[in-house]
Amino acid sequence: MSRADRVAARLAERELDLLLVTDTVNLRYLTGFTGTNGMAIVGAQERRFLTDFRYVERAKAELDGFELQRAPQELRTALAEGWPPGSLRLGFEDQHVSVRLHADLRRTLPDRIELIPAGGLVEAERAVKEPREIAAIRGAAAVADEIYEWLAEQGLTGRTEREVALALEQEMRARGAAPCFPSIVAAAENGALPHALPRDVPIPPHTLVTLDLGARLDGYCSDCTRTWATGELADELAQLYDTVLAAQEAALAAVRPGREAREVDAVARDLIAAAGHGEHFGHGLGHGVGMDVHEAPRLARTSSARLEAGNVVTVEPGIYVPGRGGARIEDLVVVTESGHEVLSGTSKAHRVVA
Ligand code: ZN
Ligand code: ZN
Repeated sequence: MSRADRVAARLAERELDLLLVTDTVNLRYLTGFTGTNGMAIVGAQERRFLTDFRYVERAKAELDGFELQRAPQELRTALAEGWPPGSLRLGFEDQHVSVRLHADLRRTLPDRIELIPAGGLVEAERAVKEPREIAAIRGAAAVADEIYEWLAEQGLTGRTEREVALALEQEMRARGAAPCFPSIVAAAENGALPHALPRDVPIPPHTLVTLDLGARLDGYCSDCTRTWATGELADELAQLYDTVLAAQEAALAAVRPGREAREVDAVARDLIAAAGHGEHFGHGLGHGVGMDVHEAPRLARTSSARLEAGNVVTVEPGIYVPGRGGARIEDLVVVTESGHEVLSGTSKAHRVVA
């Protein structure tokens, strides 16, 4: 079955006739189109793709299994016609469609077409990776590993967080990849911010430095966090690191098909709470990774997802103590038929990089 066939099967489950796909990443996943102005309509029989003059040649080369229709630059104006007969239930991606576009669509579409919020259908399909997607993510994860080894040789102490972050991004590009999010380099008290911005402050000795980076390669992302020490640590920071590592390894061991995402989150959360840091772990355990660095499924207390083979997720508990510092350890992991396989190869053992 093609990706579009699998999405069409999900439509039937929701009693929808057709899905209007407008999100550019979902479009790329379903149709192969890499341009920025496109719309697709998918149903059991329907495979219609609209783009404007600027992208027609690209679409001809890239489209896989879709019928190309050239439309005005404001694509939705072409949706006044071209529909199968009868009354139709048309799903739309309500997490992407703006209020304005929704109103414009309603005005354009024939009255016999009902617009129904149906976000997440393509994302649900994207959450289960095909072997070639896993291969691409494996490649992106290998770049992150190479970058960590390169950084360990460069050293940290005395360089500013911003210098290191820039160097990381440059090195990714030099290796034919690109950063898929701004790298995090957070030393000492800045490590207490989960999404810290790199500062123009030199990295001191004898502290923890949280490094979070991801490479995009062949259209797929990786995501990996390591926390290194810049010398011997005070007991408080050393214990903090050990607790995060124990929580990360315990949660990782719980990753297998059939497991509820919130159960896996709880494994790490309970361990961190038992160490007295319950209030210092304020984010979810992890997230899916693929064409986007954050996608389904989510591993969090509030997640209703159940892990299945083919999911690629992060496992990234952290402890953040305001004013003192923090640590996070993040691996990228594939859920397999029998359990899981960790894609991140960089050591998690306590590591001193001065
Ligand atoms: Zn990360
Ligand atoms: Zn992450």
